Amino acid sequence: MDEAALRRNLRRVKDAAGPGAALVPMLKANAYGLGVAAVLRMVRAELAPGELFAVGVAAVAEGEELRALGWTGRVVVFAPAPPGELARAARAGLTPALSDLDGVRRWAAAARDQGRRLAFHAEVDTGMGRAGFPYADAAAWGGAVEAIAADLLEWEGCFTHFHSADEPELAPTDEQQRRFARALEALPPPRGGAVRRVVHSANSAASVRRQGYGGDLVRPGIFLYGGSAGPGAVPKPVVAVRARVALVKDVPAGWTCGYGATYTARRPERWGTLAIGYGDGIPRALSPAGGQALVRGRRVPVIGRISMDMTVVDLTEVPEARAGDAATLIGRDGEEEIGLDEVAAKAGTISYEILTGLGARLPRVYLDGTRTPGAA
Ligand SMILES: *Cc1c(COP(=O)(O)O)cnc(C)c1O
Repeated sequence: MDEAALRRNLRRVKDAAGPGAALVPMLKANAYGLGVAAVLRMVRAELAPGELFAVGVAAVAEGEELRALGWTGRVVVFAPAPPGELARAARAGLTPALSDLDGVRRWAAAARDQGRRLAFHAEVDTGMGRAGFPYADAAAWGGAVEAIAADLLEWEGCFTHFHSADEPELAPTDEQQRRFARALEALPPPRGGAVRRVVHSANSAASVRRQGYGGDLVRPGIFLYGGSAGPGAVPKPVVAVRARVALVKDVPAGWTCGYGATYTARRPERWGTLAIGYGDGIPRALSPAGGQALVRGRRVPVIGRISMDMTVVDLTEVPEARAGDAATLIGRDGEEEIGLDEVAAKAGTISYEILTGLGARLPRVYLDGTRTPGAA
């Protein structure tokens, strides 16, 4: 992956969010598969401390991992933690997103056990449906949350999450933002003259496409890692996936390829076997769906079914290809480029699933942007 590109994407989100908004880069799922330790280092290198409010994760275990990596700043755990995990979150000094009064009670109990005030953010459900207090009765739950929090908890922030901010049509996002604003107005003011709660709603798509929705914080994920966040929100490519051509062979017309023998050579052909497969996260659905690779700067088709550890390409049009060549399944080689979103679309999925599915067997190589990508 290209560190310079990730840092440019981060800066673009920061610039779009405006001077008043700090960032909560989302590092969940091993930083979308890229490697949380490396991405954390890049984020810290690019952002001034005042620009980086917290890092975001989904699971308590991911927060614990960030502590083990030496990150002492805020970690917000955005997915609702199963009941047993809040005590662990408290011990690790994490900040959970809470979505119901039971969660607030458990967090207050954890604060009592720890003997110190613990912070949390309240999620407001404005249509996502998977988590959050309902936006329409914020006055009711807001009062109850304040009462439970009392002196035990610090209600630090309120947020909502958009379901369609990467769609061409932004009206549903605007409606969610209106619902969120309504909920915020109905909430009781912070107790005892506490400082204002921070508010945030924007994921990557909304931070780049609806700059006014920045609030105090924005929570970018996919855009940092090179996945498009909708029309007008196309980041610098960050990730390349490459494999070696392990074997080159000439086959006669009629020879078959792969499980199910779904591909038959129509003429004498030259095939190359790549040392990568669905066990590394290359979607099996890419073939026969028009999946391609770049070899010596040219697009070649994937043929037959993708195996767990091997993928075969037709090299007939690239006769100079040799075993040991690099094949690019995502990324640039010379003048040609296979985009992350292009691969996702062919496989019938989204860039998020491609990145988070990249296997542990693939070594992560971090380039600083000064080396030519194809040289790795
Ligand atoms: C994952 C996540 C994000 C980041 O979303 P992207 O679409 O990747 O920018 C932001 N907020 C929450 C609550 C999330 O779970």
